[in-house]
Amino acid sequence: MEEWQKLPYKDRIKTYQKWLNNKTFFMGYNIAYKYVSTFEVISNSLPFHSKAYLNEKDSELSNISLKDSISLAQEYFDKYNFNINVQEQIDKGILHFDEKEKPKKGLNEDGHNYYDDNGERKCLVHLAHTIIDPVIIVHELLHYQNQPAKKDENEARNFLTEIVSYSNELIFADYLMKEKGIKEAKIIFFQDENSALQICSQLYDVYRFINIYKENGIVDYNVYKKSYNRGYDLMLKLFDEYASTIPNINSSTWNFLGYMLGTYSYEEYKKDPQFLNKINKLNDSMNNKSF
Ligand SMILES: [Zn+2]
Repeated sequence: MEEWQKLPYKDRIKTYQKWLNNKTFFMGYNIAYKYVSTFEVISNSLPFHSKAYLNEKDSELSNISLKDSISLAQEYFDKYNFNINVQEQIDKGILHFDEKEKPKKGLNEDGHNYYDDNGERKCLVHLAHTIIDPVIIVHELLHYQNQPAKKDENEARNFLTEIVSYSNELIFADYLMKEKGIKEAKIIFFQDENSALQICSQLYDVYRFINIYKENGIVDYNVYKKSYNRGYDLMLKLFDEYASTIPNINSSTWNFLGYMLGTYSYEEYKKDPQFLNKINKLNDSMNNKSF
């Protein structure tokens, strides 16, 4: 444990302000700092959230085989004209699997994209042998679609890719329920909505702390009370809880954007399925975008 970690939380705040000052909390990325006031507002309002599934129980799911999961993912890609062949990606060793240790955790831990030791792009899906598997296969292969070679990694792609994956995750879950009659797919809405609420309630105070620092060059009660009536101690406590366990804000921010704008995209898609074309366009152009 480092010296600053042994201090009471109100004293640790000084250390956090140093992180904000030299930007280590952002790992060299600017977006969370640049758009922090926007993120503060969005994380406090959950504007696009239907919250329709929050009362569902995280119930026991039936078993499905990997073969069926692959077929369902492929059907979705074919129906919506994604140029993705799941079996081919498995045969090439790009998509690979292991067993999920504890089933039914949050979706974040169900798979990820990464670069292997040779810098090659890979997707790993942790199998739960439930209806969550095909959804994670779709989610991860869509990340793969817009992931650049390691040398071309870019900030815009990293912060926007979750929007494409979460949008399609929800549209796919909708397809599974309505067109394939798989009612259990509602677990995806339940998990995503829960995660969105959790991440927003956590990040609101974190973004608020950063915003106060950005505007005033210091975080203390005197500057706080210029903009807010109450909640100063709670903000410090929640920022401290976050910063003492998660050393940078990037992955929370791209998941946050993914949940919020993924839900928004899904709602737009329900009004007009043509909206999927816009999501796909974002998928195609992501590596050429910058902030
Ligand atoms: Zn993802």
